[in-house]
Amino acid sequence: MEMDIDELKEKIIEVGIQLLKENLTHGTCGNISCRVDKEKILITPSSLPYGDIKPDDILLVNLDGEVLEGKRNPSVETPFHTAIYKNRDDVKAIIHTHSQYALAVSSVVDSIPVFLDEIFSHIGGELTVSRYALPGSDELAENLLNVLGDKNAALLSNHGAVCCGKNLDEAFEVARVVEQICKIFILSSCLGKTKVLPEEGREYQRAMFEMKKEF
Ligand SMILES: [Zn+2]
Repeated sequence: MEMDIDELKEKIIEVGIQLLKENLTHGTCGNISCRVDKEKILITPSSLPYGDIKPDDILLVNLDGEVLEGKRNPSVETPFHTAIYKNRDDVKAIIHTHSQYALAVSSVVDSIPVFLDEIFSHIGGELTVSRYALPGSDELAENLLNVLGDKNAALLSNHGAVCCGKNLDEAFEVARVVEQICKIFILSSCLGKTKVLPEEGREYQRAMFEMKKEF
């Protein structure tokens, strides 16, 4: 069932509050967007606490980042959101978090190998950390696209996570899973070298990921 713009705005507000509740972001950090149609998206405003966002604060922008409706400034990270939508027809919602374990991992390693079933089935492959670039820059968007490929998530170096889905609920679920994976990766790394899933396990999870995509 397709949602109209007002319903999508309400859903974005709901997701923002849920991100705070589940400790997936803090303060005004992170941002949320979703596709309205092929050329337009809704995105959260810059520097407004999630609990204060009202439907009118959410911006309608085109894929060149131009504001079509709304008085506030769109999120500073609008360039990477629009870059993903331009490159991925299947992505209908994006959630960017500054969750604690994702921040920790993104500040130390370049990728999390496929060591848990969830990584493949939800993300579609290893969770890669994109090369560092300044927040809001075109370079950050480019670096992110390079590692995202057709997957549902990637980490931004020293910064946080970017999670995609075919709707806001799915993007939120990916955000949850990414944080869980980062936490377990940190725990297992303390015990020693992490065992990567064998080839057959990776193939099986990749098939599950592709099946979910078509649904
Ligand atoms: Zn950020």
